[in-house]
Amino acid sequence: MLTEDVAIIGTARVRCPACGLEQDAELVQSINTQKNPSAKQRLLDGELNVLTCACGKRTQLAANLLFSDPATDYLCQVCPGGDEAMAKAAETFRAVAAGARGPQRLVPTLNALVEKVKLLDAGLEDWAIEMTKVLLLASLGNELDRVLLFDSVDREASVLHWVLFDEDGRRPAPMASPLHAYTKLVTRTQGKPAPGELQIDRAWAVQAVREMISNAN
Ligand SMILES: [Zn+2]
Repeated sequence: MLTEDVAIIGTARVRCPACGLEQDAELVQSINTQKNPSAKQRLLDGELNVLTCACGKRTQLAANLLFSDPATDYLCQVCPGGDEAMAKAAETFRAVAAGARGPQRLVPTLNALVEKVKLLDAGLEDWAIEMTKVLLLASLGNELDRVLLFDSVDREASVLHWVLFDEDGRRPAPMASPLHAYTKLVTRTQGKPAPGELQIDRAWAVQAVREMISNAN
């Protein structure tokens, strides 16, 4: 079921938030990296599930989307709609993904998926990256609510590149940190989440860092 598909496309009736025009928008609801490489590229370019209105306004549309990468047996489901929708999706997802051996993730937004896919392509573990973020933000003065997104890794220079947003989630600014902080975390295999852990996000990482610190004491 998960491997047979072409990009599953649906349509939704949406209203442009700028001019109010109602129109049909195409929604991609499933991407298989082997069968839909162009859809994956559009996702990374921020062009997927975007309504471009005649008035010029571009709007990111919220939609369920299943991303699968057969090469790494990786599955990630985008589930907008808050905690309740997320909990429901987790149940369904566990049933659908039963038997999958690679990582399985559940994320609330398409942007969160983009970051997961960048990490997958860079060969980095998302859980250790999320823990690295928490340590970085703590070092900035306990700014644990700030949005910090992975951008790229420069393995020759041993540097991770990030994008840091301000307290209001605006004004993205580039930031860099040494790769070895990540490497130290990722080699701590006891920090690795159990297979059933679907939501590897800030909340998960804050808890994981707390446990790591209390185990060290
Ligand atoms: Zn419009």
